[in-house]
Amino acid sequence: MKNFILKIKNIIIGHLYNLFNINNKLYTSRYNYCKDCIYKEKILGINYCSLCGCPLKDKLRVEDERCLNGKW
Ligand code: SF4
Repeated sequence: MKNFILKIKNIIIGHLYNLFNINNKLYTSRYNYCKDCIYKEKILGINYCSLCGCPLKDKLRVEDERCLNGKW
């Protein structure tokens, strides 16, 4: 339950960060790993991580998010 609440919190934070262009450098540095990753999928023009199901434009901006494949 705790993990679920943390996930919801990070989804909301990531969405707001993306909306207001917060943590752009963090996003770019992490995206360098994601861009060629086999788990990156594009659905309706949005890049997702198929391991966790998160939209990358949001996930990569949140400091305490982690790559489940250990890339970053
Ligand atoms: S978060 Fe990790 S597993 Fe997911 S697409 Fe990025 S590098 Fe790949």
